[in-house]
Amino acid sequence: MAEVIDGKSVAEDVVRMVKALTAELVAKGKAKPGLAVVIVGEDPASQVYVASKSRTAKECGFHSLQHTLPAETSQEALLKLIAELNADPEINGILVQLPLPAHVDAGKIIQAIAPQKDVDGFHFINVGKLGTGELDTAFVPCTPAGSMLLIERVRGKDLSGLNAVVVGRSNIVGKPMANLLLAANCTVTIAHSRTKDLPALARTADILVAAVGRPEMIRGDWVRPGATVIDVGINRIPAPEKGEGKSRLVGDVAYAEAAKAAGAITPVPGGVGPMTIAMLMANTLASAYLAAGLKRPS
Ligand code: NDP
Repeated sequence: MAEVIDGKSVAEDVVRMVKALTAELVAKGKAKPGLAVVIVGEDPASQVYVASKSRTAKECGFHSLQHTLPAETSQEALLKLIAELNADPEINGILVQLPLPAHVDAGKIIQAIAPQKDVDGFHFINVGKLGTGELDTAFVPCTPAGSMLLIERVRGKDLSGLNAVVVGRSNIVGKPMANLLLAANCTVTIAHSRTKDLPALARTADILVAAVGRPEMIRGDWVRPGATVIDVGINRIPAPEKGEGKSRLVGDVAYAEAAKAAGAITPVPGGVGPMTIAMLMANTLASAYLAAGLKRPS
């Protein structure tokens, strides 16, 4: 059976390290890292994410600020707030919780965030830096950055020559994940909805990353024996066995089957999920170190 990659415990390690490095920064007489989280509207899932981000920021010893705006907030008002946060020396990281209401152009808002405060890593400058391998100064999107850390825990930092297959080509998970694996010297293939014979392709993977959003799509016999399987998917499905109207979370990988073939695998929940918030903290800390004229912690 596969080694179960405990994302919760790795995320706790990251948060502990961020907390210690925050204390070091403050001991040097520098300002503590500041994270501003902006949420527009009342999407319940977004509210939960944002509360969790703010809570972890406080736990790290950050200056944590939350702007909760009504759903009808205009694009202009949002752009004005971003401009204020860009100019605020107490703020090192700005996170706008997605999705935004339909009347707001999310792309415009994201690109208005100063690249050096773009701790989500969605600004074109950071996307370009990742794409060109400028990893020392790039902010990398949190979910793929966290997935990479989990892969390194199992495989070490040098992934030279390993075959990696990333299923999914979104801008927030699939593409940055592929770029990170490429930077680590993997031979990378990106699969998507038009890919032919995905099972056969998946079977070539030493590292298989699933970021699709389809419950348990990746079956056990798609997994090469000994492969490292990273399941980014978070899907809520009905669970009548738990009672009427109940549900449970599953990934994009059929876990029980895949765990029989894989060398190591992330569970859902408790795998990649907890890493996302931890890496947001790490990015905000890095931004604060850079703003203070210090070397970014590695
Ligand atoms: P998107 O919907 O943006 O992208 C999904 C990708 O999967 C697309 O590239 C799509 O291909 C591809 N795809 C869809 N169907 C198939 C198929 N049948 N075969 C092969 N490829 C397919 O999703 P995200 O990248 O935003 O998220 C992916 C999953 O990760 C979701 O479950 C999401 O909830 C989860 N997630 C988890 C996070 C975490 O913190 N753990 C954070 C972010 C996301 P095409 O481009 O051709 O349409």
